[in-house]
Amino acid sequence: MIEFENVSKFFQGKAAVRDLSLNIKEGQFTVLIGTSGSGKSTTLKMINRLVEHDTGRIRFAGEEIRNFDVKTLRRRMGYAIQSIGLFPHWNVAQNIATVPQLLKWPQARVNARIDELLDLLGLEAAQFRDRYPHQLSGGQQQRVGVARALAADPEVLLMDEPFGALDPVTRGALQQEIIRIHQLLGRTIVLVTHDIDEALTLADRIVLMDNGQVIQQGTPLALLTHPATDFVRDFFGRSEWGLRLLSLRHVAERVRTHERLDGE
Ligand code: ADP
Repeated sequence: MIEFENVSKFFQGKAAVRDLSLNIKEGQFTVLIGTSGSGKSTTLKMINRLVEHDTGRIRFAGEEIRNFDVKTLRRRMGYAIQSIGLFPHWNVAQNIATVPQLLKWPQARVNARIDELLDLLGLEAAQFRDRYPHQLSGGQQQRVGVARALAADPEVLLMDEPFGALDPVTRGALQQEIIRIHQLLGRTIVLVTHDIDEALTLADRIVLMDNGQVIQQGTPLALLTHPATDFVRDFFGRSEWGLRLLSLRHVAERVRTHERLDGE
């Protein structure tokens, strides 16, 4: 659905992303991970043309993104980011309605959509619709930010460290929420994080980046069990959730063995 072919991006002559090739499949939850400065955000922003790539090709639904009108492209892709907050002088309903209003949806449809999204994100509409951002907790603001990104039912949801500033409990709750939304809506999601446990928890496919390049990509289990380099092994070796995934796999294998022995 989103293809990068030998894409590079330079800032002041220095490559932020170098010769990157990547295929993001429709309906998959892809997580870009890597240390700070590895090129994750630049890669994400090139998808909706917040950053224009210098060389190579990026295609969306088979068409080069350079051929899209930028507004059309961005309406087809929701974008949620930790540091771009909600509009402070707009209430929750107005914030969520940003893109539907631009698209001139009828007001009744906009209202129904706001209620539907608040419900989807576990916020009671009657209680939250009219609140202003400063009347919300950090977690509630993030929920509204995700609702806003989903408002016009985009084909792709792009998220840059969406849960970065949250406490571990709220972060865990929102991670579960986003997994539920992904399962429910079946949308393509691309999420950037530097949190290894978050990547292993959320991803169908992890893309590990370093120094503007893809070091390895694959399912969480593939990266844990078949790291391509010592760098990959060390990177994921620090993760408790990774160890748990491996031990769960070990348990599943034992169960299968026992079932086979029982059947003999
Ligand atoms: P990450 O998201 O992995 O932390 P980024 O994609 O933000 O990495 O940045 C990759 C590299 O590109 C870094 O060295 C960063 O300093 C540089 N960079 C990113 N955006 C800009 C910009 N607008 N101007 C100059 N340099 C930038």
